Amino acid sequence: MQSNGIIFILSAPSGTGKTTICKLLTQKLPDLKFSTSHTTREPRNGEVEGTDYHFISNKEFEEKIERGEFLEWAKVFKNYYGTAFESVDRHHLNGDDVLIELDVQGAQSLRDIHYKAVFIFMMPPSLEALEGRLNNRGTESASKIQERLKISEKEIQLSPLYDYILTNVDAEQTTDHFLSIITAEHFRKERYKPSSPDLDNLINNEAHT
Ligand code: 5GP
Repeated sequence: MQSNGIIFILSAPSGTGKTTICKLLTQKLPDLKFSTSHTTREPRNGEVEGTDYHFISNKEFEEKIERGEFLEWAKVFKNYYGTAFESVDRHHLNGDDVLIELDVQGAQSLRDIHYKAVFIFMMPPSLEALEGRLNNRGTESASKIQERLKISEKEIQLSPLYDYILTNVDAEQTTDHFLSIITAEHFRKERYKPSSPDLDNLINNEAHT
C-alpha cells in the first residue's frame, strides 16, 4: 500500500533534550505519530509502558529478534532497543508521518538497507552543556555519566551522515526548526501530486520531451 506519510528518524546523544522536543512536537503537531520502541532496560521514574517504551525481558526481546519482528534493533548501554515493524506500520499505512527515535547504530542499519526516511540528528550546544544536563537529570551515577559522554562523542562524529542537524539550545526554537523540516519535506518535488489532469499532462509531457 502506498503511503503519503513520511518517516522521520531522530538520533541524539543522551541528555540532548530529545524527550522534551518530542513532547513539544506532540503538542504542536498532534498528527505526527511516534513509533514506540521495545527495550529491555528498566523504566525510569514516570515512564509509562506502551507510551515511552514497551518494556520487555531479554528473553522476550530475543524471541522477537528470532521471529523477525524488528525493523532494526541494537544494543545500547548493555540493553536491547528495537523498533518493531508493527510500531511503524500501524501509523504509516494510514498515511501518517511517523517519528522513530533511534541511536546511531539503528539509524545506520536503516541507511544500510536504503530505508526511505528523513534522518535528523540533534546536537547539544556543547559537550560541557551535555555533561551539565546529564548531571542535572540525576538519573545516572557519575561513572555512568562519563560512560554516556564517551558514547556521545562517538555519536556526534557520525552526525554528518544525517540529512539534517539541529542544535538544541532552546527547546521551543528547536521544535520550530524541526517543524520546518517536516513542512519542507512535504513539499519536495518527488512528493508533488498535480491537483488537476492538465497540470499532470504538462509535467509528464515535459519529462518525456
Ligand atoms: P534511553 O535509555 O535514554 O531512553 O535511550 C538510550 C538510547 O537508545 C538513545 O540513544 C535512544 O535514541 C536509543 N533508542 C531508543 N529506542 C530505540 C530503538 O528502537 N532502536 C535503537 N536502535 N535505539 C533506540
